[in-house]
Amino acid sequence: MNEPDFYREYYEKLHSVERKLTPKEESRIKNTIAFIPEDVESLLEVGCGDGRIVNRLKGKYEEICGLDISNKALDYVETPKVQGTLENLPFADNSFDIVICCEVLEHLPYSVYKKAVKEMERVSKKYILISVPNNENLEREMITCPECGCSSHLWRHLRSFNEERLRNLFKDFEIHKIKTHSSEQFMFAGTFFKIKRFLNINQRFPQTALCPQCGYSPEYEAKSAHLKKENKGINLLKKVLPLKKAGGWIIVLYKCSGS
Ligand SMILES: [Zn+2]
Repeated sequence: MNEPDFYREYYEKLHSVERKLTPKEESRIKNTIAFIPEDVESLLEVGCGDGRIVNRLKGKYEEICGLDISNKALDYVETPKVQGTLENLPFADNSFDIVICCEVLEHLPYSVYKKAVKEMERVSKKYILISVPNNENLEREMITCPECGCSSHLWRHLRSFNEERLRNLFKDFEIHKIKTHSSEQFMFAGTFFKIKRFLNINQRFPQTALCPQCGYSPEYEAKSAHLKKENKGINLLKKVLPLKKAGGWIIVLYKCSGS
């Protein structure tokens, strides 16, 4: 499968199942919205998915738009919307006061990522607001395809971010405000996940996963019982082992150096 086709199919598949927000996601979204400056009148969210952010801003701005690669996801978006990719935004230069991009950059293959960053900068007049997972250990959620044996990240995360890497993300935009939130992780979690991976060679492929190499994807039924069991186990470990701060998210508001 070539790359653009893979991504279109992956996100259509991901959004074919309605996903409920976890309390962590809910908190991240509230914090992200709180970062939008007062003087914003026009807003674009790129990679808006099912509209979990942009729908909450409906009616608040003179101009608002959500863009996503997935038509299925856009079915849930209640604001004006456009189907498209981040590497080629269908807007003129400086079209929006703010461009928002949440939990998207970590998914982009290198060639798309480079273009997406430039495109966001091009269409933004004043601000860029992003959120990404904080210092994620990508190894932790690798899954192995039972068909072809190749490994990929459960959520297709391809890069890990920290404050340092975010500092020079854009050429003409500087960090204006930054907020890092760490979640609670049990001690020895890293070792635990390593051992788990080692023992469980055929790690199950969740329903929304799609092998980037052979296109394998499990049938609908296989998933939730497994995931519930795993969550129960992890919650138990969180109760019995000491906790430490790890992971979570980073929200960054960038401001155009010229404005
Ligand atoms: Zn495969």
